[in-house]
Amino acid sequence: MSQTSTSEMTTECTSCAAAITPQRRPLCGEILRCGDCNAEMEVVSVSPLRVEEAPQVQEDWGE
Ligand SMILES: [Zn+2]
Repeated sequence: MSQTSTSEMTTECTSCAAAITPQRRPLCGEILRCGDCNAEMEVVSVSPLRVEEAPQVQEDWGE
């Protein structure tokens, strides 16, 4: 099984479970946007590809 598959570059949106397939190999820490719900996902692992919901950057620092 040395065949390179694109499946390793597909992951699931943690918000809506839609498939996220980057156009190219992403880098760890890169932000991917879900095409379905528009949520931002941070790449936490590239092999296999895993993402986590990107922390929301709030402009309002209340404290
Ligand atoms: Zn989504």
